[in-house]
Amino acid sequence: MNELVQRFLRYVTFDTQSNPHNSACPSSPGQFTFAEFLKTELIELGLSDVSLDSNGYLMAKLPSNLEYDVPAIGFIAHMDTAPDASGKDVKPQLVEDYQGGDIALGKGDEVLSPIQYPDLHRLHGHNLITTDGTTLLGADNKAGIAEIISAVAELIAHPEIPHGDICIGFTPDEEIGRGANLFDVEKFGAQWAYTIDGGPVGELEYENFNATSADVICHGTNVHPGTAKDKMVNAMNIAAKFQLMMPADETPETTEGYEGFYHLKSANMSVAKSELGYIIRDFEREGLEARKAFMQQKVAELNDQLDKGRVELVLTDSYFNMKEMVEPHPHIIELAKQAMITCDVEPMIKPIRGGTDGARLSFMGLPCPNIFTGGYNFHGIHEFISIEGMEQAVKVIVTLAEKTALKYK
Ligand SMILES: [Zn+2]
Repeated sequence: MNELVQRFLRYVTFDTQSNPHNSACPSSPGQFTFAEFLKTELIELGLSDVSLDSNGYLMAKLPSNLEYDVPAIGFIAHMDTAPDASGKDVKPQLVEDYQGGDIALGKGDEVLSPIQYPDLHRLHGHNLITTDGTTLLGADNKAGIAEIISAVAELIAHPEIPHGDICIGFTPDEEIGRGANLFDVEKFGAQWAYTIDGGPVGELEYENFNATSADVICHGTNVHPGTAKDKMVNAMNIAAKFQLMMPADETPETTEGYEGFYHLKSANMSVAKSELGYIIRDFEREGLEARKAFMQQKVAELNDQLDKGRVELVLTDSYFNMKEMVEPHPHIIELAKQAMITCDVEPMIKPIRGGTDGARLSFMGLPCPNIFTGGYNFHGIHEFISIEGMEQAVKVIVTLAEKTALKYK
């Protein structure tokens, strides 16, 4: 078995599930154990500036082998696995030369079926790694870690491949939205970076939603229902009225691709006070602003119908589209595309209908698109990965380092 696969199978034995209920960083001790293990591996590989800080951020550098100056580039992956499914006692199964049909997962009734997951149709002849149906696999994002380390090992083994400084960063708690929080961009030292955290081969992502949360607070007047005539104002009715003023065809369940939405995701209701929790998403910054203005307008209309001050709106921006930070430097995307094409991988550029750590890092001064790992069905027991896809990710990373070196020659 090749070293890349061995690495990956070693890494998935660590239980690194992050814990949203723990505010510590890392949020689970297993992540630190894993980080220490990786630290030793990076030192043994001969990397320089290997450092693991007290928050569990692991960084290292492969110094340039060039006589001329080339921008330092980075590769980033996260060490934790999603809270959605257990990542403890992962028992990976190897499916050699997949020829179609259902794959039995472990001893239970659980199967991985091309009827449910049509992506499998395109993987005939591949060697796949699946779960045993009781846990997630952890390809998200231990495949990314294995691919980055294998690519660096490849560069070390082949000093004839030109490359500048290659910065490596492994982060904790990405799955609970905190991976960028304590990332030291200056210490990392790269001018731009790529997260290796995407799915199927070819994925290249540098656009994500602009995101705002919008809380609508409705104030009622509570009176004993027996004597409520002309006195009671039921905040739940105000909230219901407000929700009916929102466009029914601009919701998550009615939109896709580049379409934005309003999403009522929670409600806390009583006669005296009712709060509606919305999130607003739009790929364009002006679109996001227009959606905020629309909600402000509806609140004003409702306040005009009722006594003033019955309805309040609190808007809080969450994150923005990294395209803003990446597009001024088109070579970041162009190099990734060219690296893929050189490796016979067709770049598949699609917008992320969510946020990523890369988006947050982009606004912290480290433009950071996302590249595929070769994995599928992240966050659940049907997660699997193609070994051929992993090998292509390694090639793309190596080629990206080389192409960057050659561009600045
Ligand atoms: Zn991930």
